[in-house]
Amino acid sequence: MSDNRIPLAGVIGNPVSHSRSPRLHRHWLGRYGIAGDYVPLHVEERHLEQVIRALPHMGFVGCNITIPHKEAALRIADQVSDRATLIGAANTLIFRTDGSIHADNTDGYGFMANLRAGAPDWQPDSGPAAILGAGGAARAVVVALIEAGVPEIMIANRTRARAEDLRAEFGPRLTVVDWVQAGNMIEGAELVVNTTSLGMTGQPELRVPLDGLHAGQIVTDLVYSPLQTRLLAMAKEAGCTTVDGLGMLLHQAVPAFERWFGRRPEVDQALRSAVLA
Ligand code: NAP
Repeated sequence: MSDNRIPLAGVIGNPVSHSRSPRLHRHWLGRYGIAGDYVPLHVEERHLEQVIRALPHMGFVGCNITIPHKEAALRIADQVSDRATLIGAANTLIFRTDGSIHADNTDGYGFMANLRAGAPDWQPDSGPAAILGAGGAARAVVVALIEAGVPEIMIANRTRARAEDLRAEFGPRLTVVDWVQAGNMIEGAELVVNTTSLGMTGQPELRVPLDGLHAGQIVTDLVYSPLQTRLLAMAKEAGCTTVDGLGMLLHQAVPAFERWFGRRPEVDQALRSAVLA
């Protein structure tokens, strides 16, 4: 910033008290000695635009957007990145000095950076990926996998129509599989990704058959609470390489922090511990 105001950022959601983003960004602010802050902002849908428009005039340099406002934020923004347009949702807003609002989506970046860190030997063109779920997070994962060059992406979702919509939008590399066939889909995949909320604390368990998991596969879960989901525990037992979902949360924050506070931060064990504390 050009003057001596303290730069602020935050996360807008409803609910938002569960968010780990304040801990994450405050850890980096402290580590790099940046005099800024990051706060949770509980905002009702009917006030969303008014709040977002006011923030640049209150010292905010940007904010994260979480459930249920990711689509609405995209519509409010003045400029939208190609990636956010493709995904159809924004998770990061950057407030420009002229007060205009730029929307981006860093979930796909976070997913891929986490996967590459946790499974460095994975080659995108080595075989098909299997995705469980077709919600907002799945869209970011699909875009990231297509961009990385994965040749075939199989998707199974409880509501088949949502998976069909993804296929219609993202093309012939996607194959839709019936939810009841998810076990078979997993068996034939090189990479397995759970993008559903199943297995998350307070949600039902992921109950698709997992006996097809085998050594050589890479299995990652977007759910990070608990850190060790049933899917990851069974995958580990079967000899798969497993990658937990916390790293995606940490990595998706890197480009946002850099743009807001002017320093590219590091994802390391100290950050993981701070966020889990
Ligand atoms: P969403 O848009 O609401 O999608 C939820 C997905 O879960 C849909 O595919 C839905 O299927 C499925 N699902 C929910 N309940 C189900 C049930 N009882 N049986 C079968 N399928 C069920 O949510 P989202 O934004 O994609 O987020 C999904 C998960 O990813 C959440 O747990 C979220 O915390 C996590 N996430 C993690 C990160 C990270 O950084 N690690 C980032 C983003 C999201 P239907 O279409 O049939 O409803």
